Amino acid sequence: MIESTEIVEKMTYNLIDLNRKDYLKNNNLNKNDIKKLVDKAYETQNLAEKELMFLLEQPLRHLGYLLKKADQKREEVFSDEVHLRAIIEFSNYCRQNCYYCGLRKDNQNIERYQLKKEEIIESAESAAKIGYKTVVLQSGEDEYPAQEIAEIIKEIKKRTSMAVTLSLGERDFGAYKLWREAGADRYLLKHETADKKLYYKYHPGMSFENRIESLKYLKNLGYQIGSGVIIGLPGQTKKILAEDLLLLKELDIDMMGAGPFIPHQQTPLKDFRRGTVEMTLKFNSLCRLLMPLVHIPATTALGTIDVQGRQKALKAGANVVMPNVTASSYREKYQIYPDKICISEDAGDCRQCIGSIINSLGRYVSQNAGHSLKI
Ligand code: SAH
Ligand code: SF4
Repeated sequence: MIESTEIVEKMTYNLIDLNRKDYLKNNNLNKNDIKKLVDKAYETQNLAEKELMFLLEQPLRHLGYLLKKADQKREEVFSDEVHLRAIIEFSNYCRQNCYYCGLRKDNQNIERYQLKKEEIIESAESAAKIGYKTVVLQSGEDEYPAQEIAEIIKEIKKRTSMAVTLSLGERDFGAYKLWREAGADRYLLKHETADKKLYYKYHPGMSFENRIESLKYLKNLGYQIGSGVIIGLPGQTKKILAEDLLLLKELDIDMMGAGPFIPHQQTPLKDFRRGTVEMTLKFNSLCRLLMPLVHIPATTALGTIDVQGRQKALKAGANVVMPNVTASSYREKYQIYPDKICISEDAGDCRQCIGSIINSLGRYVSQNAGHSLKI
């Protein structure tokens, strides 16, 4: 049996220029190595950084077994149930300047909007009427008064039986506490990249440490927490992605989102290439094997760069879809990245469309809130 260290040594050997015959021989060896590592991940939920790098380096056409085992694990844990999370993008104001994001403060080319308290509550109520069991309140890092957010949460909890997820970026720790006491169930705050150098490069004025501390504090408050990354950020390496996977595991998250980087014309990263479907699928399927209980969405960003993107993710470990229920008139103004799908549809259209995608895969939409399996 080939030991993992041997596989890693071979990986280094792979980098040496080989003649074609050796290359083909090595490639066949790789296929056996892939199977061994995937089986190890499937059985132990653990892989070392170098082993993760080895898998991330393989072309997707050699990783059918990885995707298959991720799908199998998803089925064992969640059966064919898919959870829907309705997103309300209630404000595109943002005080941050993340290099990749169209909502960044320095982008003067977007019309900013902010929904009123009652509008947000009403949108949530209609999402509940359409049948959603979770609502996600998302915005730029707006300075929407914390007290008002708390009132919105309380009112949604009073009027509906939905779980409430917040995705509002970093706020002061008192606000996190206030919102938890108001009834919020979950908080999404992606760490974006585990590489501090890259983090500081793309997040001027922000602190990686504070982000991680926020996640830990949120978890202590009893929130179900979600983190995640952007796949394909310029400068991101396989080593960094392997570190991302290990950090996600260490944070003991309940949810994980990974979507491809999509360059936005009004940002400093406009001229860089977007992330790939292949890497996003590899990353998602490894997440499923390393963290079997975690909720993983088939992201809208993946559906944006590939019409079949969400279907592909649902067949490679994902068990969640996050349809947009924001009023159509605001959707095009919430341009985190360009060409986002489902901009002209309304909430009802999206619900139907997603439902049929899920059914076409032989899966069904869950009728429960889809809380963390860890609680
Ligand atoms: N302001 C909040 C929530 C909105 S942004 C926050 O930052 O957490 C939600 C997510 O959009 C971010 O976590 C980031 O991963 C993603 N995002 C932003 N710009 C993107 C881009 N150009 N391509 C792909 N994903 C992007
Ligand atoms: Fe603001 Fe979030 Fe975009 Fe960063 S990713 S600029 S915090 S909306």
